Amino acid sequence: MSAVPPDLRARATSKASGIPGVKHVVAVASGKGGVGKSTTSCNLALGFAAMGLKAGILDADIYGPSQPKLFGLRGKPRQIGGGMLEPMERFGVKVMSIGFLVEEDLAMIWRGAMVIQAITQMLHQVAWGELDILVVDLPPGTGDAQLTMAQQAPLAGALIVSTPQDLALIDARRAIAMFDKVKIPILGLIENMSGFCCPACNQVTPIFGHGGARHEAETRGIPWLGGIPLDIGIRATSDEGRPIVAIEPDSAHAIRYVGIARGIWSAIVSGAASRPPPRIVIE
Ligand code: ADP
Repeated sequence: MSAVPPDLRARATSKASGIPGVKHVVAVASGKGGVGKSTTSCNLALGFAAMGLKAGILDADIYGPSQPKLFGLRGKPRQIGGGMLEPMERFGVKVMSIGFLVEEDLAMIWRGAMVIQAITQMLHQVAWGELDILVVDLPPGTGDAQLTMAQQAPLAGALIVSTPQDLALIDARRAIAMFDKVKIPILGLIENMSGFCCPACNQVTPIFGHGGARHEAETRGIPWLGGIPLDIGIRATSDEGRPIVAIEPDSAHAIRYVGIARGIWSAIVSGAASRPPPRIVIE
């Protein structure tokens, strides 16, 4: 896979993320859990790395951190001077997760103020070093964690992951509305589990419907970033801590993820994400 042209990298320095050394922060959100937001975040971070970018991932999913498992990482991050933590690293991506820091059961019962503090610390007390892009895996829904992110780090934009069926899309609309309200540009919508390809007969079955997220993106004027099918290979590699973009970079799925990562990066560096919507002038 080819690297990012130097001119695009250079242009990326123009925007600050509010986190020293980190050029752009992108949040990955979903209206509800179980739609594949963490799997998508992981493979997109790897996709950015495959493009030759310096990438990191911050797992802010307080209520169900998945990145340690997805990246096959265990243990505690090292404390370095000044109260800072060193992120872990795997497959060329820097990783920090709430899952490294606290027992899962403990974080589950945190109230708003504790959630806000944990996310603030993970953003500002981690020695990320120089990163072109930091992917933030948000918890599902529209609560304190999402609002803290919006306030604490000037986000380049948010990505919304949804499955195709109506129920997931209704929740995705809430997430879109929340980002609109806090003036975070929506970088686009990704449809996950977009059809099941039977490994035995190659027939594609739209288990959760098909094209719902694309239609939603088109009607709302949000960029459509593409669909990822429901596939046993994606599930199995995720569970094994060997994500598909890292382990099978030439597979069709990996190429799809990297294609989506490229689209996101182009939108960020071209400034398309921060452009205000067109004004309609009535004469
Ligand atoms: P979320 O972060 O939205 O809660 P996860 O990323 O944890 O969702 O995914 C939920 C489950 O679905 C996991 O077991 C994951 O391996 C599986 N999964 C996610 N995306 C796909 C896909 N495209 N194909 C197959 N399984 C998937």
